[in-house]
Amino acid sequence: MPIYVTRSSMPELSDYIEEIKPMFESHILTNMGPVYKKFQSQLITYLGVRELSLFVNGHLALEMAIQALGLTKRGEEVGGGEVITTPFTFVSTTHAITRNNLKPVFCDIRKSDYCIDPDKIEELITDKTVAIIPVHVYGNICDVHKIENIAEKHGLKVIYDGAHAFGEEYYGRGVGNFGDATMFSFHATKVFNSIEGGAIAYRNKRYGVPLHELKNFGMHTETSITSIGANAKLDEFRSAMGICNLKRIDECIADRKRVHDHYFRRLEGVDGIELFKGQKGVKPNYAYFPVYFDDKKFGKSRDDVYMALREEDIYTRKYFYPAINELECYRDNPGAPTPVAHDVSLHILTLPIYEGLADEDIDRICDIILS
Ligand SMILES: *Cc1c(COP(=O)(O)O)cnc(C)c1O
Repeated sequence: MPIYVTRSSMPELSDYIEEIKPMFESHILTNMGPVYKKFQSQLITYLGVRELSLFVNGHLALEMAIQALGLTKRGEEVGGGEVITTPFTFVSTTHAITRNNLKPVFCDIRKSDYCIDPDKIEELITDKTVAIIPVHVYGNICDVHKIENIAEKHGLKVIYDGAHAFGEEYYGRGVGNFGDATMFSFHATKVFNSIEGGAIAYRNKRYGVPLHELKNFGMHTETSITSIGANAKLDEFRSAMGICNLKRIDECIADRKRVHDHYFRRLEGVDGIELFKGQKGVKPNYAYFPVYFDDKKFGKSRDDVYMALREEDIYTRKYFYPAINELECYRDNPGAPTPVAHDVSLHILTLPIYEGLADEDIDRICDIILS
């Protein structure tokens, strides 16, 4: 059996059947029905956030958060708004900005945690800047306090792409409580999934109505359409999957920790292999296992390791290569150079990590790397 970088967690079939059974009576399949509401309320409790709106996926959640916070409109007012963001992420983050007619301005990352470098944000702020959209990449938490100070000083909104940060806490506070809003993704490949799905956590109640309306065609009431929305509603079957997976999430994260610790035992201290050692105050979710290969010291490059594993049917991922500002679709807007993001994108490999990855398989992966 091939080993991929991740494998979706799933509940017992009987548990899922139990959860969807009522729908075969009610015939309510979508449109924010009872299962959606139950899932929403359970997530608010689990994530420890004030408000939460569910979406069909994380990407549309982010696009609509940008709209609900008024950034698209603000961008038009200032004649082409700019959003400061990271080039070291999945393309979804940058696409969500660009598809709202805003210009992504790429800020370099820090080598220590691969997140946006807060000390390089201010020099990128112009009179067209409307927001900062950082990413808790790999579940590593951004410097939320420095970012908050900068945003306050310059009157900017902050939306975190927390697609990798489900269930994490920073000094005891749910990670969805920082900034104006945080997006979570419940895609099948993430730590927690509802097959496809996503959410926006936010603190200010006034974003609730626009978020709700934007994902439902801009419908204010049956006959009053007040905004130009789209369709991004999370349906009842996916909500049911989310409810089932949420029951098992702590178990699932604990098992990821087993995998993480096993890799650490095998790979820590090897010359040319740099591992991420965690962050103070963060309760992690072990979403990814990134390894930085320093080819000069290790003797082999990241790409060599990728190929060697591939030959054994083990599929790692070069998350995130190329850096976003080097992609075909963003090459026309490279902005200032981001040397750290460039360097990391060339040297990083994320190893398979998921619930149920066998110890023998982890050993086999490490043996191949070390040989
Ligand atoms: C997965 C992901 C998204 C998009 O989430 P979907 O639920 O797949 O739409 C956005 N940003 C990052 C960093 C991601 O990893």
